[in-house]
Amino acid sequence: MRNPQTRIKDFIKAEANRLGFDLIGFTNPSPPQSFAIFENWLAQGRHAGMAYLARPDAVERRANPQLILPGVKTIVVVALRYPRPQDAPAFPAQPTGKIAAYAWGEDYHQTIPQRLSELVHRLREETQTPFEWKILTDSGPVLERDLAQRAGLGWIGKNGCLINPRLGSYFLLGELFLTLEIEPDQPFETDHCGSCQRCIQSCPTHCILPDRTLDAGRCISYLTIENKGAIPPNLREAVGEWVFGCDICQQVCPWNLRFARPQNDPAFYPNPELSRPHLIREIRLSPGGFNEKFNNTPVKRAKRRGFLRNVAVALGNAGGADALLVLGECIRSESEPLVRAHLVWALGQIGGDTAVETLERALQIETDPLVIAEINLALQKLSIRKD
Ligand code: SF4
Ligand code: SF4
Repeated sequence: MRNPQTRIKDFIKAEANRLGFDLIGFTNPSPPQSFAIFENWLAQGRHAGMAYLARPDAVERRANPQLILPGVKTIVVVALRYPRPQDAPAFPAQPTGKIAAYAWGEDYHQTIPQRLSELVHRLREETQTPFEWKILTDSGPVLERDLAQRAGLGWIGKNGCLINPRLGSYFLLGELFLTLEIEPDQPFETDHCGSCQRCIQSCPTHCILPDRTLDAGRCISYLTIENKGAIPPNLREAVGEWVFGCDICQQVCPWNLRFARPQNDPAFYPNPELSRPHLIREIRLSPGGFNEKFNNTPVKRAKRRGFLRNVAVALGNAGGADALLVLGECIRSESEPLVRAHLVWALGQIGGDTAVETLERALQIETDPLVIAEINLALQKLSIRKD
């Protein structure tokens, strides 16, 4: 007869597979091994504007999973794959921006908890034993990749992502804390990055640090999502055409190039409007239009002002006559100063007589000091370029 813990473990694995999860591992709630690295990362200010990460109560809970769910005995870690960036459907419209592949479908903050809740429901039926649980997915103070490594799912690569030797790294993580005792899996102990440096060499903003963390204030993912203010002028060109997140350090990883497979889960179906956003159309999005388009997707986190800020930068980097035309149109109609400031930068980036005329006209009517400073800077840059 099977040990009851093994029976429950097998049941959870089978249910997780049925619900579409690609990887499942079990670990215990001991303090995370990489907590010292996290603390050092905070002490160095690498979390940029994400002050919530440094709140004492959040730091304390990251150090001790018992504070997340008192009495927790087991943490089940699951991974759900999302599409590979190369699987974006072709979209003929130009100029086109880029959205990180994890954000092409439904919001995983809803999808993963819904599926884990169903798993809990089935587990309650199966065990007929009272237990407490807590579900997290990028939504609570836990060091997710540390737990995933301990649960045997993979190793933390030099790009900071969790990499599985059979699947690569295009997946999202979720955690189910349980007060049930289940035998933990073996941690994943090997580092398969070896002497590879591809992610470090390919990162456009050089923000990958030697301890496998990122300098968030320079990372395009942070700059286009969590960052609520202006994108630093010296990094705008490096942002390229990314308007929400960035996949580059995963795209170049040999483990993804060799092992990542297409994802056919309908929740992550790559809608071409999302995977390859049409920049001219996006920059004209009204508040209502933005909400309607992105309401159930991760992109809503950037809010309209952040998203359009990014689209403006992408238009400046993409260039072309159509971009110039729409930038001129939006600089007159856009009500958000943050967005106008980046439209100004984009005009300065494209340059030419039309850009100069548009900027000079804008200067006559602009009242926001941040935007006025951007216009003066752009005009100065263009006059230097002319000389
Ligand atoms: Fe660099 Fe982009 Fe990776 Fe951030 S997400 S570390 S910017 S390659
Ligand atoms: Fe590791 Fe190379 Fe992948 Fe970077 S690109 S995470 S160094 S294997």
